[in-house]
Amino acid sequence: MTHSALHFIDGREQPSQSGRTFSTIDPATGGQLGEVAFGGPEDVAAAVDAATRAFDDGRWRRLPAVERSRRLRAVAGALRERAGEIGAIESADSGKPLTTATGEVEVAATMMEYAATLTEQIRGTAYPDEGGCFVHTRREPYGVVGAIAPWNFPLVLAAWKAAPALAAGNSVVLKMAEQTPLTTSIFAQLCHEAGIPAGALNVVHGDGSTGAALVADPRVEKISFTGSTAVGREILRVAADRVKSVHLELGGKSPNIVFDDADLDLALEGTLFTSFANSGQICTAGTRLLLQESIADEFLERLKARAEALVVGLPTEEATQMGPVVDATQRERIERYIALGREAEATLLTGGGRPTRPELQDGYFLEPTIFTGVRNDMRIAQEEIFGPVLSVLTFSSDDEAVRIANDTDYGLAASVWTTRIDRAMTMTDRLRAGIVWTNCPHRLAWEVPYEGHGQSGLGEDLGTEALGTYTKLKVNYLQYAGAPASL
Ligand code: NAD
Repeated sequence: MTHSALHFIDGREQPSQSGRTFSTIDPATGGQLGEVAFGGPEDVAAAVDAATRAFDDGRWRRLPAVERSRRLRAVAGALRERAGEIGAIESADSGKPLTTATGEVEVAATMMEYAATLTEQIRGTAYPDEGGCFVHTRREPYGVVGAIAPWNFPLVLAAWKAAPALAAGNSVVLKMAEQTPLTTSIFAQLCHEAGIPAGALNVVHGDGSTGAALVADPRVEKISFTGSTAVGREILRVAADRVKSVHLELGGKSPNIVFDDADLDLALEGTLFTSFANSGQICTAGTRLLLQESIADEFLERLKARAEALVVGLPTEEATQMGPVVDATQRERIERYIALGREAEATLLTGGGRPTRPELQDGYFLEPTIFTGVRNDMRIAQEEIFGPVLSVLTFSSDDEAVRIANDTDYGLAASVWTTRIDRAMTMTDRLRAGIVWTNCPHRLAWEVPYEGHGQSGLGEDLGTEALGTYTKLKVNYLQYAGAPASL
């Protein structure tokens, strides 16, 4: 199966102006999946031109709210109709198990449906008249939104970025990750067929230089970025020159805290899920497991057995629970962290290597890996590894758990396992994180907003709060009687 992907600019597929392409590979086999157009600055400029024209003539933003809503819903329907095919492509491009990738098409469809409800919720406020002057505020789209995202949830993130920005009336230029470009092209095509007009949604493929060109374009008034904290910082620096509005969703090193009163069966399953789902490539993964000392030995014994029983396999095999990581570069990066853990004299409880099954030798597979005896100042406890590597620490008191959990530059999420309501509420209060999950890691609902704390993000996402992120405020003072102020 080979696939090619072109840019999607001004309502049609387009090659790069330079003719340059890059390969996308199947991380399960290392084989080439297809050739993809590589966007240079001239392609980015063409996409921003198209987006600016679409915004200026109002072909999207001036449609009635119910009509924009209808078209966003139509994208959801189109995604569902082709879920099997899109899921297979996503799985091949990203290494996700096929069932997971197909399930993510449904997740993206529901994002489109939720965004469709937002078009009808853009509100202003009227203030009491004063001295014959009527004052009201309104929310206006920024214009062109540049959206940049990583490879861990390619189609879901394309919808996540584009849908609320479009719902608010913006035009969008998407620059998704170079590792997983294929489903974004299909998404753009389906949006077009569903009635999102030419230029309102554009896709330019490429790497960090392509993203950087989008950030630097003065006509892009809003940048919405999901990715690493290092790149987020760089984007903020560039945006500062033009005082550009930036929304950031960045990395994490989230604590997953298991107390002695927890339902340990649930905590065990939840810990496996938050550590190894998507091969550990989730920004909110609970990669620091904090165990209360009294239950640590028993919990670790069970966790080791369960981790060793996880099925690492080809994405197409039904039994597979963990596929490969996304590419050779990521696997090398993760293996460097495993080496760092050993050098720091953390104890390798399980994993640490590559699986030995012959069918997996050409892909970028890793064993689920657990280090115990980790100190929170070790690099494997402080730095985001973004792979199937769990660092385990222990604590004796609630105070100590809070101190360790909060001792991080990040603040994306935290999980707590307890059956005591007082403990659950106190931990929610004391943990420095944008999301606290009590007994339910990774739970997410489109109508519920969140934002990263610390160096994990800037600005609110999801919920009606996303409308605040993708619109700006305007106030109008309207003097309808009496005289305005004069000298
Ligand atoms: P990355 O920051 O290297 O790349 C993300 C995107 O930015 C890619 O499309 C890349 O091409 C582009 N990019 C790279 N350099 C750029 C530059 N200078 N200017 C503009 N764009 C540039 O991230 P990654 O390693 O691909 O993804 C993993 C990271 O994403 C992790 O840190 C993870 O935590 C984070 N993430 C965060 C969330 C969240 O919601 N907080 C969600 C998913 C992933």
